[in-house]
Amino acid sequence: MSDLKRAYNFNPGPGALPLEVLQQAQAELLDFKGTGMSVMEISHRSKEFEAVIQTAEADLRELLGIPANYKILFLQGGATLQFTMLAMNLRPAGASADYIVNGAWSKIALKEAQKLGTARAAANTEADGFNSVPETLDLDPKAAYLHFTSNETIHGVEFFGEPTPPAGVPLVCDTSSDFVSRPIDVTKYGMIYGGAQKNAGPSGVTVVIIRDDMLERTPANLPVMLDYKTLAASGSLHNTPPSFAIYMVGLVFQWAKKQGGLAAIEKYNRTKADLLYGTIDNSGGFYRGHAVPNARSLMNVPFRLPSEELEDTFAKEAKKNNLIGLKGHRSVGGMRASIYNAVTLEGTTALVNFMQEFQKKNG
Ligand SMILES: *Cc1c(COP(=O)(O)O)cnc(C)c1O
Repeated sequence: MSDLKRAYNFNPGPGALPLEVLQQAQAELLDFKGTGMSVMEISHRSKEFEAVIQTAEADLRELLGIPANYKILFLQGGATLQFTMLAMNLRPAGASADYIVNGAWSKIALKEAQKLGTARAAANTEADGFNSVPETLDLDPKAAYLHFTSNETIHGVEFFGEPTPPAGVPLVCDTSSDFVSRPIDVTKYGMIYGGAQKNAGPSGVTVVIIRDDMLERTPANLPVMLDYKTLAASGSLHNTPPSFAIYMVGLVFQWAKKQGGLAAIEKYNRTKADLLYGTIDNSGGFYRGHAVPNARSLMNVPFRLPSEELEDTFAKEAKKNNLIGLKGHRSVGGMRASIYNAVTLEGTTALVNFMQEFQKKNG
């Protein structure tokens, strides 16, 4: 394995996975736990797979401190399908739902909810280029729920604490890009969901954490694959689940526990983010961050250079230095470094060293 050349991977999603997790998957690929088969080839109703999904669930419960009155679902269709499903399940006919819009993903979530019923923006920061977490909210006390996006992946803004909904209005959160990156208080939420591929595994599985009383809202006669209540009652095994993806997120949860849990992971993530934002702040304006300081994401760090030409050169030279995935989203431009859990301090250090060298040559 000494000739193994791994990229410093700053991709926004699918993103970097821990090397140890990939190595374990590789070691078990041909013969999973003595079955003589890959985990991809065994029945989702076998005792071996039952152990996979139950262990993944138990480890996530331990990592996030999820109480017993919440169900954990492993679903398909990405976070994008959850935009639709949560509106179908949690918003009764005729009711309205509130959405905090402070980036590209929350804007899409609101739009999807509006296709099926009434939903309104409790805040919208688009006029400021989606660079902050809104401080004042215009909340509907009768809303079916208040939806927010804890980390806006494209704009690099993150909530460090939950918005406070009116009494009796449950919080619903899209946590796709900061899932298991730091501890949160699950009891503040009615539902939390996220696609695995940013921070917790490969694409193909979406984790939904939902409080039992929320399941009572599911209307009768929803198509079964869109019905939280049925999916929860079957333990995510109503039909064939994405078994390999569930196995992989399970390995990532075990890895996260070995790192010391989410408090230790947050500390590591803050060290990486401080290094990167420090480099931007100390560049005398050569590098310019997107988010206002108190909303700076620990996961996605978008930044600009003095010209688009320099940004193109930066991306090309970075790639030659094994620093991959740094081009910003087409809607924002510039660069973006995604420093998810599996991105190492070593990789982040390689990036800031490159940034300082690049500025010396081109500043
Ligand atoms: C990536 C992302 C999505 C979309 O996820 P899919 O799994 O591709 O549907 C939604 N919300 C946020 C915050 C994301 O980062």
